Amino acid sequence: MFYYSTFVEYVLCLCLLNQTRMKTIQLITLFGLCLAFQFCSNAAYSQSKDFLMGKYDYTKDTSFVKVPTQFARSNVYLKKETYQAFLRMRAAAFQSGIDLNIISGTRSFNDQRSKWESKWFASEFAPIKDSQQKVLKLLRWWSMPGTSRHHWGTDLDLNNMKPAYYQTTAGKKLYNWLLNNAPKFGFQQPFCANRTSGYQEEKWHWSYVPLSRNYLKAYIKQVSYADINGFKGAQNAKDLALISNWVLGVNPRCK
Ligand SMILES: [Zn+2]
Repeated sequence: MFYYSTFVEYVLCLCLLNQTRMKTIQLITLFGLCLAFQFCSNAAYSQSKDFLMGKYDYTKDTSFVKVPTQFARSNVYLKKETYQAFLRMRAAAFQSGIDLNIISGTRSFNDQRSKWESKWFASEFAPIKDSQQKVLKLLRWWSMPGTSRHHWGTDLDLNNMKPAYYQTTAGKKLYNWLLNNAPKFGFQQPFCANRTSGYQEEKWHWSYVPLSRNYLKAYIKQVSYADINGFKGAQNAKDLALISNWVLGVNPRCK
């Protein structure tokens, strides 16, 4: 991403230096070509297998932004479009007395592997000897590395990640507001109630669908079970039909 932006800036500088010798129409044509090149490059990058599986550095990616800590925990990054939509939603929620804060945003493959393997060895799960049984238990709440929607910069966890919170008055108010209003800003709840497969319901996890819908489509086309490896329990992904049942086991409005 950085290289493409730099390339465009370089060409534009050359144009400006030589502008006395170039006709306006030539400058405009060149500018258009540069923009088209950048757009195509970004689109190809955004759909690459490495991007879809979180194998890139979002902290150095110019299409991402670090969310200020007044709106989020430290080190939360999102795709710029997701962040802009979140700000619009946040302003509207504020009018209703709701303060939206992001607990978790983008996570890389390595971030997810640390999380997954810390659970794998945690005292709660360590005694489970059968690998598939352990994976099934973990998959109630945690995604395998390379299969999380959090890899895309489109998905965020809001305010409180404990199901019990959503039984409280404040939690109910928050969730009802999101159900009624988040879609107006492009957000949907991927892990909603009443799905036939996939993760438990997560009332705090919302996805910016104008982007994530395309990433899901690209994921299904490009990622296969052979790509899911490099962590504990990865060998169980195929037998459990992880892509069909978990990656695709989402709210139909996210597809
Ligand atoms: Zn989440």
